[in-house]
Amino acid sequence: LLPEKSLQEVSAEVEAWAEQKREEIELLKQNEQYRKEFLQNLSHELKTPIFAVQGYVDTLLSGAMQKEEIAKKFLLNTSRNIDRLVNLVDDLDEISKLESGQQQLYKQNFIIQELVQDVYESLSLKAAEKNIKCSIKKNSDLPITVYADKEKIRMVLINLVSNAIKYGKQNGTIVFSVYKTHGNLVLAEISDDGYGIAEEHLTRIFERFYRTDIARSRKEGGSGLGLSICKHIIEAHGQTMHVRSRIDVGSTFGFTLEGRKDNAA
Ligand code: ADP
Repeated sequence: LLPEKSLQEVSAEVEAWAEQKREEIELLKQNEQYRKEFLQNLSHELKTPIFAVQGYVDTLLSGAMQKEEIAKKFLLNTSRNIDRLVNLVDDLDEISKLESGQQQLYKQNFIIQELVQDVYESLSLKAAEKNIKCSIKKNSDLPITVYADKEKIRMVLINLVSNAIKYGKQNGTIVFSVYKTHGNLVLAEISDDGYGIAEEHLTRIFERFYRTDIARSRKEGGSGLGLSICKHIIEAHGQTMHVRSRIDVGSTFGFTLEGRKDNAA
């Protein structure tokens, strides 16, 4: 026979059970709130370019088509807004795959500086438009091999370097630095000397759709999902992202990765 529980023990168990239920309810409420905010943000993000396209097309149909110069300008703006919608849908697709955990990582050993060089080259036209110089900091650790999903890390680097260009100043510089740290970890950072981010925004910067300066970001045409995608990718690798920034001095976005793995499949 089991020894009978005292009243105190039973009431402690009931209290623990009730506490667990309260936490579960709190989590459900939070998820519901996130879901609502996500849908609100999403419909807002979709409406802006759709209304713009609607406006241009309506004006063209009601006569602007006859004036070639105006028609060209309106069509160009229509095309830009459609690009924005396509980017948004691509980013949403990526985020939903990452959040559902459906995506598998294909990890391999690769030299991170080589990937950064590739990313710099693919974005060189954008950087040249603002006369921004992109470089890799020289240090004794070069070259450094990481064990990660190369294509996903490419996506992270494209987002971070694109942001550094978008929010960087004319004639600015972007520097990639990488170090080996303790326990076979590698620390990679992208620094710019651009507009910077005020302290009150720093903790929220990785949230979906969060932007610091709506007007400026809109002009640049981002979806507001880039950093959230980066964070998901790095966390899927079991690692973390960080940011340091000062207004008018610049920003540094960084992440850790697992270092070279011997006998990797
Ligand atoms: P977006 O598509 O708007 O660039 P992100 O998720 O990539 O979306 O970035 C979110 C916001 O963080 C940006 O809108 C911008 O306000 C800010 N931000 C990101 N990177 C930088 C940077 N390097 N310098 C200054 N602000 C940045």
